[in-house]
Amino acid sequence: MTDKEFKSKCKKNKKSKVKIKQLNYKSYLKSNKWKKLRETKLKLAGYKCEKCGSTDNLHLHHKTYKRLYKEHLKDLIVLCEICHKEEHGLLTEEEIEHRINLMMQE
Ligand SMILES: [Zn+2]
Ligand SMILES: [Zn+2]
Repeated sequence: MTDKEFKSKCKKNKKSKVKIKQLNYKSYLKSNKWKKLRETKLKLAGYKCEKCGSTDNLHLHHKTYKRLYKEHLKDLIVLCEICHKEEHGLLTEEEIEHRINLMMQE
């Protein structure tokens, strides 16, 4: 093995050991995967809030973050902005993300 080959092999090994960087929740919500999931769920719900039936400002709410980044459709619920706020109480997006990060560390 040449020096060059040895070095490139080391590099490869090092790379494979590096943990996949944790996906940021906010950037996940901008990803195509999420957009697709959102669209599917909205369609299933008939483009209305599953709580009050409103069709304004629809959000997708996680009933559970257990399968975050690989959610099942049943983990999500379509809510209008008002119902979504009610569901979260006064939690801000930052606080939600903080909770998720804590959970992911477990
Ligand atoms: Zn609603
Ligand atoms: Zn939510």
